[in-house]
Amino acid sequence: MTWPADYHMHTPLCLHATGQPVEYAARAVEVGLTEIGFSDHSPMRQDDFDNWRMKFSELDGYVEAVRQAQRDFPSLVIRLGLEVDYLPGQEDWIRELAARHPWDYFIGSVHYVSGGWDIDNPAKLSRWTGLDVYEVWTDYFERLTLAASSGLFQIIGHADLPKKFGHRPDRDCAPLFERFLNGALKGGAAIELNTAGLRKDCREIYPGPELLRRAAEKRVPITFGSDAHAPGDVGASFAGVVQLARAAGHTHWRRWTQRQAATVAL
Ligand code: ZN
Ligand code: FE
Ligand code: FE
Ligand code: ZN
Repeated sequence: MTWPADYHMHTPLCLHATGQPVEYAARAVEVGLTEIGFSDHSPMRQDDFDNWRMKFSELDGYVEAVRQAQRDFPSLVIRLGLEVDYLPGQEDWIRELAARHPWDYFIGSVHYVSGGWDIDNPAKLSRWTGLDVYEVWTDYFERLTLAASSGLFQIIGHADLPKKFGHRPDRDCAPLFERFLNGALKGGAAIELNTAGLRKDCREIYPGPELLRRAAEKRVPITFGSDAHAPGDVGASFAGVVQLARAAGHTHWRRWTQRQAATVAL
């Protein structure tokens, strides 16, 4: 079979990934992928915002490293993207980034919830203590819904990231999921099936089966991503995740070329 594209991979510029884009590309060819895309953590307006992303001055070098991989692997389709943090109020900055290069797509990800807390950061795991898990999920999904409906992003990354360390609400999340998916339809965003969750404590792809099924029902398009932070992660668990997507009712995935969508049979 032809694999869907792996649209989520990082580079050492984010300070927590290893391997150059050419090494990810080589691995992609090795595992039989025909299309990939880079989506490293985008710079913030302030370079000292946190310590897990490229600096603004490194953005052009990032693009050049992706171009180098494109030149070295002409038989592999390599897209140029970014994983962009969505925080309310950052819209102008995101538009400035968008205007700087002919990006194929932006993955909009929410890592930060209220209070400046990056919920997936293992160094901040203790912040969960004493919190109502459902309230954190609600806060997170409110931001994710804003991101999805903003029109700034072609793809929404790892849609239920708060489960990373196993924090799952015991209340019904359907209303959160429905609002988010309606936002994705409004904003023209696909949602990403991200296999990194399988490698975390939650042991499940992002997003989980219920959100995935609701997305299929509402015909919200999907993409796939390994969220590779090392070349060996490229295409990780793709056989399983494609099966999962089909079982949830998805029949197509979305290809992005300079932010134009195409629909490809799964
Ligand atoms: Zn990362
Ligand atoms: Fe992320
Ligand atoms: Fe990522
Ligand atoms: Zn990510």
